[in-house]
Amino acid sequence: MNFAFDEQARRLRDELRGLLAEKVPDWWRGMFVDDVRAIPFTREMCALLAQHGWLTVAWPREYGGSGADVWQQTVVREEMWAHDEPRGPQYMNLNYIGPLIMRFGTPDQQGRFLPPMASGDVIWCQGFSEPDAGSDLASLRTRAVATDDGFVVSGQKIWTSYADAPADWCLLLARTEPDRPRHEGISVLLVDMATPGITVRPIDTMAGPHEFCEVFFDDVEVPPDCLLGPRGGGWEVIRTGLTFERVGIARYARATAILERLVELARQPGVDGRRPADDPAVRQQLADLRARCEAARLLSYRVVSMQAAGAVPTVEASIARLHNTDVEQLAGHIGLEVLGPAGLLTHDDPNAVLGGIVWRQWVRNIPTTVAAGTTEIQKNIVARGLGLPPPR
Ligand SMILES: Cc1cc2nc3c(=O)[nH]c(=O)nc-3n(C[C@H](O)[C@H](O)[C@H](O)COP(=O)(O)OP(=O)(O)OC[C@H]3O[C@@H](n4cnc5c(N)ncnc54)[C@H](O)[C@@H]3O)c2cc1C
Repeated sequence: MNFAFDEQARRLRDELRGLLAEKVPDWWRGMFVDDVRAIPFTREMCALLAQHGWLTVAWPREYGGSGADVWQQTVVREEMWAHDEPRGPQYMNLNYIGPLIMRFGTPDQQGRFLPPMASGDVIWCQGFSEPDAGSDLASLRTRAVATDDGFVVSGQKIWTSYADAPADWCLLLARTEPDRPRHEGISVLLVDMATPGITVRPIDTMAGPHEFCEVFFDDVEVPPDCLLGPRGGGWEVIRTGLTFERVGIARYARATAILERLVELARQPGVDGRRPADDPAVRQQLADLRARCEAARLLSYRVVSMQAAGAVPTVEASIARLHNTDVEQLAGHIGLEVLGPAGLLTHDDPNAVLGGIVWRQWVRNIPTTVAAGTTEIQKNIVARGLGLPPPR
């Protein structure tokens, strides 16, 4: 396998970096700090990326994409994550909700839902988890009862990121066939969040605003043309979607961006005149992080190349994901080692070092390993690939 980027991909990276240097404001710290400017900025950024043909660079032209290859898409993904994801919540549409509609949607659904995503006009959220259905997603209880006019949905979702952004649409998992075995009775619905009967309640956590919401569905009517894939066949749709989601986030790129800033800082003399880089332990740690970032990057590229060949690389995606969350956590740990207590200062403290980046990384160390399937669940998938029996 040759993972070298071609000339076109290198040019794209340079141009993208130029645009980001010009357009990403100094105050931008990602979506997870409380700043009312954040969502409007991400909307503007998505529209701008769309104008350049970069928002959905690898989508087919018929859906508003630029028809580029997956490596150019990888470049976009890396640069976005290295710059604290200026696409904000829309990364979900682009990484997996859009591709799922391409794979499982009817031509009408593709024509209706994909162009607004490609132009950066729409925010989607993902309604999977419930209070009693997280890792064991197949135990979900939200019901969608079939009627002459489509479905009527009742139930509750939780940890729904960005539902309060506000999201315009929700990729919702609901049980349509309660009498079928639990994996067979689930369907995917595309739900307009403006439909009467939907209530969104933000959940405050240290992870930051928009990260989590509860969403309640009280007799919400969903038309029949908003069923994605076969009725009762939602499990297959979702398994594919989660695989796309796991590789859609270039965590190694964010860890590498933090590493680069730590290296720069370690080379400068501190207040005591000494350079952190003269400490052999610091050098070892930074080198360790560099080696692991590289491994996570290459494992992610392997998954990208498998997807490009039309495969759904479940085990490989979980392996890449494990390494990616490891490097993100390590970036937080090593950042604190290098910066010492100063690394704990938040972005709004005038003495914050590196704009509070290490603190932000540290706070996100736990949620990083939970979203899109916990570390233990990824290991279960890898164990299944080894032919080991499933957990009891
Ligand atoms: C940042 C973030 C964003 C999220 N965004 C969304 C979103 O937009 N939409 C959405 O639907 N959900 C979202 N989630 C929810 C996420 O998908 C769930 O939190 C996750 O699936 C775990 O479910 P749970 O929290 O119910 O934990 P549980 O499933 O109850 O797990 C608790 C613990 O038990 C372990 N465990 C559970 N089952 C097993 C097993 N079989 N073998 C070994 N260990 C096991 C887990 O690893 C974990 O450590 C988000 C979560 C985070 C952290």
